[in-house]
Amino acid sequence: MIKVSLAKGDGIGPEIMDATLSILNAAGADLTFEEIEVGEKVYLSGNSTGISDEAWETIRRNKVLLKAPITTPQGGGYKSLNVTMRKTLGLYSNVRPCRSLHPFVTTKHPEMDLVIIRENEEDLYAGIEHQQTDEVVQCLKLISRPGCEKIVTYAFEYAKKYSRKKVTCFTKDNIMKQTDGLFHQVFDEVASRYPEIINEHWIVDIGAALVADSPEDFDVIVMPNLYGDVVSDIAAQITGSVGLAGSANIGEECSMFEAIHGSAPNIAGKNVANPSGLLNGAVMMLNHIGKSDVAEKIQNAWLRTIEDGVHTNDIYDPIMSTKRVGTKEFAEAIITNLGNKPKQLPEVFYEDNTPLVLPKYQRKPSKTKNVVGVDLFVDWNGYDANVLADQLKKLNNEALELSLITNRGVKVWPNGFSETFCTDHWRCRYLAKDGEDLSKESIIDILKSAISNNIDAIKTENLYTFDGVRGYSLGQGQ
Ligand code: NAD
Repeated sequence: MIKVSLAKGDGIGPEIMDATLSILNAAGADLTFEEIEVGEKVYLSGNSTGISDEAWETIRRNKVLLKAPITTPQGGGYKSLNVTMRKTLGLYSNVRPCRSLHPFVTTKHPEMDLVIIRENEEDLYAGIEHQQTDEVVQCLKLISRPGCEKIVTYAFEYAKKYSRKKVTCFTKDNIMKQTDGLFHQVFDEVASRYPEIINEHWIVDIGAALVADSPEDFDVIVMPNLYGDVVSDIAAQITGSVGLAGSANIGEECSMFEAIHGSAPNIAGKNVANPSGLLNGAVMMLNHIGKSDVAEKIQNAWLRTIEDGVHTNDIYDPIMSTKRVGTKEFAEAIITNLGNKPKQLPEVFYEDNTPLVLPKYQRKPSKTKNVVGVDLFVDWNGYDANVLADQLKKLNNEALELSLITNRGVKVWPNGFSETFCTDHWRCRYLAKDGEDLSKESIIDILKSAISNNIDAIKTENLYTFDGVRGYSLGQGQ
């Protein structure tokens, strides 16, 4: 019998998990569950990670986890356990289907049927943040080539497996040319290997607006972590309720299934939450572990229950609904419908029992990397960049020369504008005088010289070329 780790979570978690389990059992899923304790109780017991070593062991042993939402306590600097779990277990692909159930669930978008494939391990969710000056904090946005290749390939393989016609990519590469630029570049590379699937790219702001306005124009959408988080909540909500959508987190070895929504503390313990999101996550899990017959039976019973107008409060509509029910009663109605098919909504057929898991990523050969300069970040509470430049020029050495100062990314020296608002956080770019590969000793010399000249250097960032291609952005206005 297949063993699955189970976390009942916080807030509405236990209610929607009990409802989901009652349906899985009644449908004959025939699974053994090993329950683990994670989340709020664990955090508040003094374990700042929200999860014990034993729970990690159970998850790693069983490989598959069904998880209800978790509350991350506010304040106290607790890290989100959801993000930690996705990253620690290498669950790089977050699959979030959002489909409208028109006319049974009220929505402005009756034709909507899209799948968001969200990168799950990197981007700003690395959570690497620092306060560097009185006025400025930073968060590192990390995007890797393996991360991009894995998620974009997953999106195209998903489209192929499930006969989807188009894959759309959202990025903000007009601004972030290195990070989002890499994601877009990899998208174009991978797309060229799937000529039978249409591909397109939108800048994320207009892309998100189009999803909100005409979601029926989209099929599969792939995007970096943060945009995927935001856009998938929008997509789920406009189908009728954020409580409807499930989510699969897939890695090379482990997988985790959940609802896309959070622990909804505002309705916890009232038997009013919609268990559909978690149930749909569980249906994805059943498909993943090869129990597609049970997945199909549950999904069709769920669709039929929605058609019957038996609705939880979040999707209740006086015209389309016949009965407003609680979490438990909704689950009971689904159980009664096991074996029944929807009459009007399309019946589902899950014929293919094989999970979509891509082969392990193979690292590519390295490029030739040359260091050609350094960005020295300085904490300075003056206002006139010319004054700072005069001090910084003293640090020039045989190999390096000051070429640019920016403040929050915009050029303020040479030839800055007096209108530009400046904080106490300055990026000072030194470039190799002869443009060739530098000795790192020259960078250390600049730093030493900064210290002896009372310049508060807060960090350095080396500037590289890779196979001769510039690996850093220019200053805005440069
Ligand atoms: P939320 O998704 O919990 O709630 C947003 C709104 O949607 C609330 O009005 C809520 O009542 C409603 N809602 C959510 N799920 C519903 C359901 N199944 N049925 C009916 N209505 C539902 O978002 P939030 O309030 O921003 O976050 C609450 C907590 O959840 C936070 O601690 C957050 O960190 C956590 N969270 C956890 C996860 C996860 O475990 N995967 C995801 C997101 C947020």
